[in-house]
Amino acid sequence: MQTVVFETDNAIFYFESSDAIRHLKYHSEQKVREASELLETISSSSSEVINIESNYFGFRALDLIRAGKGRVYCKICKERYDPGQLTPVSLGFGKSPFEVNLKQKGGIFKRFFGRKKRICGSGGQCYLCPNGHELIGMITWTGLFQILKQRKEVRTC
Ligand SMILES: [Zn+2]
Repeated sequence: MQTVVFETDNAIFYFESSDAIRHLKYHSEQKVREASELLETISSSSSEVINIESNYFGFRALDLIRAGKGRVYCKICKERYDPGQLTPVSLGFGKSPFEVNLKQKGGIFKRFFGRKKRICGSGGQCYLCPNGHELIGMITWTGLFQILKQRKEVRTC
């Protein structure tokens, strides 16, 4: 059995390649270029462990976890967990980009803004391990936003 491995800052995710392929196929058929490329990478690989470094796969990893697929290793707990043991946290940043309140959003939100000044995506989702560590978090808003870090405000661009 082949395993697809995806690593984040705090976690390592393991999925059966058959689950990953089935899921990527759906998105590939929707003409998502990244999905087609990953599909090609995974299906053409003969190694037992396939490491995926694509940021795009983070979104698909969220879908797979939501569907109860795979296992995750929390680097902080040094424990493996099943998807059912994780806590989903929705990253709702307000009804519209103009109502975003950065101060209320805590660590995950700030971290994203710390890394990138521009964010694509209408909200986001993350998963916490049973001890509250952030395993994966993806912004899935449907617009492109310019984040002005210093002035703590969000503008569409
Ligand atoms: Zn943990």
